[in-house]
Amino acid sequence: MRWFSTRDLLGIAGIPFVTPEAHPTRLEALAYYRGVAESCGVLLAPDTRIVAARVNGTGLTLSAAKEPPSSHTLEILAPAAILATGFFHNPKRLGVPGDDLPHVHRRFVSSYPFHGRDVVVVGGKNGAAEAALDLYRHGARVTLVVRAAEISDRVKYWIKPDLENRIRDGKIRAFFKSRVVAITPEAVRVETPRREETVLASAVFPLIGYEPDFGLFERCGIRLEGEKRVPAHDPETLESNVRNLYLAGAILGGQEIGRIFIENSRHHAGMIAAAIAKRQKAALD
Ligand SMILES: Cc1cc2nc3c(=O)[nH]c(=O)nc-3n(C[C@H](O)[C@H](O)[C@H](O)COP(=O)(O)OP(=O)(O)OC[C@H]3O[C@@H](n4cnc5c(N)ncnc54)[C@H](O)[C@@H]3O)c2cc1C
Repeated sequence: MRWFSTRDLLGIAGIPFVTPEAHPTRLEALAYYRGVAESCGVLLAPDTRIVAARVNGTGLTLSAAKEPPSSHTLEILAPAAILATGFFHNPKRLGVPGDDLPHVHRRFVSSYPFHGRDVVVVGGKNGAAEAALDLYRHGARVTLVVRAAEISDRVKYWIKPDLENRIRDGKIRAFFKSRVVAITPEAVRVETPRREETVLASAVFPLIGYEPDFGLFERCGIRLEGEKRVPAHDPETLESNVRNLYLAGAILGGQEIGRIFIENSRHHAGMIAAAIAKRQKAALD
């Protein structure tokens, strides 16, 4: 995966992001962000999920659960906290019979296990487009099921023509204006404008987007506002309606998940740090 943004728009914390090409790869970005975290001394608590937060005196108590296999839970006391939980951990489901079968992958990680196999990719945006091409190039027989009439204009400009040409060549089979109606262990039933098709598939990738974990906001007492369910926050400080609980990154778009991304949220941390410092100074004065 190559980033759509150029490296200068992905850099954070004033630390230069240096890469051979203008558009970094996923691995380059992972190495860079890890380096930033290390050089800034960020302490990491791996495999730890925040499940709720509540006001506790002048600060907060965060309830956390260790991911399985551990069943450990813990409470973290903090003068302030920032929720920057994004939405990529919460892929949307198709909501059709069979969508919880073990060969249904809501995350695309690698094409290698799918060489020589029939696979169905569902979706018409970046995630589905890149997965369909990669699976095809690693020897899978790919069928793409797209709800819209064409591949989205929001697909990266170097991916979209590549995919459209593979479809035109018949290398990747595609059904547009179509939707999956059921998944069985061997096949996917697809409603197309002409008729219902049964497509053989030993792996299915519904890559149809994500949504934030609104339940977490509610458990923290954060109000969701308007049709887009934007978590309530002060635009100057990014503090939510829960005192000392701040919000950063993509979650600030609520249901409108494409609106806030790295390029236009890199400054959130600075805004929050300034607000926390100002409150701490006021408490000392
Ligand atoms: C293929 C792809 C290409 C992209 N290209 C670009 C691009 O070119 N330019 C750009 O600006 N953006 C791009 N984006 C979007 C960008 O990655 C997101 O906007 C960005 O990652 C959002 O950052 P975030 O910190 O808000 O959330 P995330 O990056 O989603 O991070 C949230 C983190 O919180 C963790 N988390 C979630 N819930 C909990 C919990 N309850 N407790 C503890 N941890 C939790 C998650 O595991 C995750 O590690 C791309 C995204 C994808 C998928």
